[in-house]
Amino acid sequence: MITLSVSQAQQHIQTAMEPITESETISLDCALDRISAENISAPINVPAFDNSAMDGYAFYALDLASNKRLHIVGSAFAGHPFPMPLQAGQAIRITTGARIPERCDTVLPQELAIFEDDNTLDMRNVVVRAGQHLRRCGEDTKIGDISIAKGCRLGPAELGVLASLGISEVNVHRRLRIALFSTGDELRSVKKTTDNGCIYDSNRITLSGMLTRAGMEVIDLGIFSDDPTALKAALQKTYQQVDAIITSGGIADGSADYTKQVMQEFADMTFMSINMRPGRPFAFGKIAQSTKNTYLFGLPGNPVAAMISFYFLVRPALHLLNGAQVATPLQIDATATQAIHKKIGRTEFQRGICNLSAQGKLQVSTTGGQGSGIISSMAQANCLIVLNPEQGDI
Ligand code: AMP
Ligand code: MG
Repeated sequence: MITLSVSQAQQHIQTAMEPITESETISLDCALDRISAENISAPINVPAFDNSAMDGYAFYALDLASNKRLHIVGSAFAGHPFPMPLQAGQAIRITTGARIPERCDTVLPQELAIFEDDNTLDMRNVVVRAGQHLRRCGEDTKIGDISIAKGCRLGPAELGVLASLGISEVNVHRRLRIALFSTGDELRSVKKTTDNGCIYDSNRITLSGMLTRAGMEVIDLGIFSDDPTALKAALQKTYQQVDAIITSGGIADGSADYTKQVMQEFADMTFMSINMRPGRPFAFGKIAQSTKNTYLFGLPGNPVAAMISFYFLVRPALHLLNGAQVATPLQIDATATQAIHKKIGRTEFQRGICNLSAQGKLQVSTTGGQGSGIISSMAQANCLIVLNPEQGDI
């Protein structure tokens, strides 16, 4: 058992991760939340041509130096360009997104147009800035720009960027497969009735949800009672087929459970005592194989401790394993609206409710009781109050 700070534990785990390299090419419409396996450079400019940012009239601004009248000679609609260059003193009606014809550099919004007659614009009292209301070729993305970096998670906006470039397939890392189970004689599935002294297993569903949100495939192995034979058989059967195995429960110091002992038979384990609350006990190990590794994460059984340990210790490591850039949660200073008790020397993650004060300043209060088993506090919270080791009472 080694005692570590949160950042030491994160470092210990993350340095052990060997990112997967396998990738697959998939259709853009299946790529949400996948991780790009390469830098993707733009094959075209976006926009691919100068086009109008407004509905109005397009012309060449310098023409106005000699002649304040513009003769409307045709129209350009989005998808239907005007087919020839404009001549001196000419304008066309144009809609948003329509290609700007040659010898044309400015758009007058339609609401500012003054007509001499149906086909003539009177520009004497119109203020024009040459180049106004144009969307320039390549102003969004230029040919050759790295549009999506290797390791980028493809969210809705990233998929839109790729589509705007005409890219219909994308090379992504394969999804990680993660096996998940709970340990403890007292645990019952929500689908069963509880016996005297037993509780419902809530960790599996929260962990499964967090893994799914992280873009991973979950293999739910269920609940194991504190019986080494069944646990061994399950690990034996599973470990080669998955990238990681996540368990909760049975790893605390002095625990009567067999989880630690069985884990040690499979993997090179580190049992940690992390200076954090909730979540002190944590187990991490690697089963090295010829083709790949399988990582073992043992989380504390208390539901809040399991979630917080997942967020701060497991998720960043799995992102690294998946070849993704690790996204650190945004951490911002806020004013506490109440006194908060905090013990110096450990990191505390209290469940917080933050909002803006009447003056527009970020303020935060706790959800109340901070026991590491109070799962409802995680549901009430909209943030975590991160209190660093050197911090005392607030
Ligand atoms: P352990 O880490 O096994 O000592 O468990 C610590 C506490 O968490 C005990 O009160 C357990 O009953 C509880 N616990 C363990 N696993 C789960 C689970 N999957 N769902 C809900 N509570 C759990
Ligand atoms: Mg237990």
